[in-house]
Amino acid sequence: MKDHKQFATQQRMTPQRSVILEELRRLKNHPTADELFMVVRRRLPRVSLGTIYRNLDVLVKNGQIRKLEGHGTQARYDGENDQHQHIQCEGCGRIDDLDLHAPETPDLSETGYNQVRCQVIFTGICPDCQAAQSRN
Ligand SMILES: [Zn+2]
Ligand SMILES: [Zn+2]
Repeated sequence: MKDHKQFATQQRMTPQRSVILEELRRLKNHPTADELFMVVRRRLPRVSLGTIYRNLDVLVKNGQIRKLEGHGTQARYDGENDQHQHIQCEGCGRIDDLDLHAPETPDLSETGYNQVRCQVIFTGICPDCQAAQSRN
């Protein structure tokens, strides 16, 4: 946390941003920006979708939340930035947490990258989509 002072001046926590962060942390389902927008709008009726995107970007850069890029689906956001893993439904795109540790990251220092971490996304068909399929 040695850059904390710098963040404090560069990236002030605006009231709007703290509401966005609060609502994201309350939702456990890794919402898309659109889904989060619907929820935040109940508290901040004047907020725009653009504002949501802008604030989410800042929170991601600050390392307070995680952005999960799906394959061919909208990005989803995770209010927790610890090292848990994810499983994503190929049917509806929802993402659930997995209580698994990441595979050990090999020493990649020769690549010149820092802050290396391993992001694993398992995929499958969620129970809701299975139920929908068996009804057809
Ligand atoms: Zn599903
Ligand atoms: Zn998660």
